[in-house]
Amino acid sequence: MEHGAPVNPWAALAYLVAGVCFILALRGLSSPVSSQRGNRFGMIGMTIAVVTTIVTHFPMTALGALDGQPIFEPDLGLAGQILAAIAIGAAIGLVTARKIAMTAMPQLVAAFHSLVGLAAVLVAAAAFLNPLAFGIAQVIRPIYGPDVVTILQVSRVEMGLGVAIGAITFSGSVIAFLKLNGNMSGKPIMLPGRHVINLALLAGILGLIGYFLTDQSPWVFWTITALSFVIGFLLIIPIGGADMPVVVSMLNSYSGWAAAAMGFTLHNSAMIITGALVGSSGAILSYIMCRAMNRSFISVIAGGFGGDSGSGAAAAATDRPWKRGSAEDAAFLMQQAEQVIIVPGYGMAVAQAQHTLREMADKLKEHGVRVKYAIHPVAGRMPGHMNVLLAEANVPYDEVFELEDINSEFAQTDVAFVIGANDVTNPAAKTDKSSPIYGMPVLDVEKAKTVLFIKRSMGGVGYAGVDNELFYRDNTMMLLADAKKMVEEIVKSLD
Ligand code: NDP
Repeated sequence: MEHGAPVNPWAALAYLVAGVCFILALRGLSSPVSSQRGNRFGMIGMTIAVVTTIVTHFPMTALGALDGQPIFEPDLGLAGQILAAIAIGAAIGLVTARKIAMTAMPQLVAAFHSLVGLAAVLVAAAAFLNPLAFGIAQVIRPIYGPDVVTILQVSRVEMGLGVAIGAITFSGSVIAFLKLNGNMSGKPIMLPGRHVINLALLAGILGLIGYFLTDQSPWVFWTITALSFVIGFLLIIPIGGADMPVVVSMLNSYSGWAAAAMGFTLHNSAMIITGALVGSSGAILSYIMCRAMNRSFISVIAGGFGGDSGSGAAAAATDRPWKRGSAEDAAFLMQQAEQVIIVPGYGMAVAQAQHTLREMADKLKEHGVRVKYAIHPVAGRMPGHMNVLLAEANVPYDEVFELEDINSEFAQTDVAFVIGANDVTNPAAKTDKSSPIYGMPVLDVEKAKTVLFIKRSMGGVGYAGVDNELFYRDNTMMLLADAKKMVEEIVKSLD
């Protein structure tokens, strides 16, 4: 086989079934009610894809010739290496998934994306160094001189794009990981003339991929790789901490496209389908997150948001009068209420207060209070963060509402119980044009008769680093404590 690999029809069918399973998995994951079914479809699809790949690519050794045909025998040494690699990867995945705290999920996702990017670079490099083994080259045998191996032009494009997207995903994800994990400052690092540098690099990479069509010299391939590593790094350093979750979702999208490019190089249709699904769903998710924060995708990518605007505002915060309440006050107020809307945020995730919170809601319901949960699309540190935590605590799905479905209800609600949320309730988003969160849709908690706010200190700001004027309103009572401890106290007082 010198160019193009024959496709085993059974493998193609199996990959198609795996692709359908992945689509059903995404469909299932779109709602908490069907998410377990979605996960199961994902696992079935992945098992089909992995088993098919191993079975159809089982390593064989040629032993000799029988009637002119080579005899093949399974290469157990190589098969052992593949299985050992799968076992090591699975063990690392299992241990990490069990140990990781929910709040550290964004950096874990960033770390995993970096591996997808690196894998794409390595596959492209392997294909470049040994194109015949990948079935992407022609051998030209001149009458005089040695054979010439020419990589197919379409494969050069796939390889160039694959290595570029992979390298950008790798270096970008490493920076995102370091920022999210606190190993590197979350503040934007703004290089002078960075837009010009980035555009020049991008033009250089695209130009070289074009040139690669006419010249398959190693320097072209390796320069594309090196420039892509650099641009991945430069693209992410100016992006501030507050925009990092969008960046992670964007890198998720890139990792999908990198996997799709690898699928072309490896003639693996399951990878092409899966890569395209991950690529497009990551892009849609980035768009949804940007819309929920009222930021344009271009402004996120351009960077600079989420500097140190918060410190001044936070210092001013303590000078203004505010009301402090106790767990008993909160319990009393909520017991008297007809309806309480709970607004969870990042602080609930940090304190892991979701189970105690559900206990509190159960107690309130026993007292005849109607309890609802209001979820902001970017509450917490990743999309669906709050939904996952509430589902973990077995909060009934019919009590959980999205922003647009519940916002009008605050005006008829006795108590808005804000637990560890801050930015997603900040009215500055509606009124203060100079605020970095101006324009972000927020929950209208201030319209409730009383707002109870759990946070640890008056000085602590949310992710955007800005003060929240709600803390100083007449109808607000601050409950300053760790969220879990405060809710435990309230539960005791409700007896
Ligand atoms: P915020 O980050 O605005 O606020 C968190 C609050 O929790 C702070 O006021 C903090 O105050 C408090 N807190 C922290 N730890 C505890 C604890 N142990 N007990 C009690 N309170 C605690 O959270 P939100 O959920 O309101 O907003 C999310 C932010 O993240 C938004 O700015 C959003 O744009 C951003 N973001 C989210 C994305 C997503 O996908 N979810 C994506 C991109 C950005 P204190 O320190 O005083 O306790």
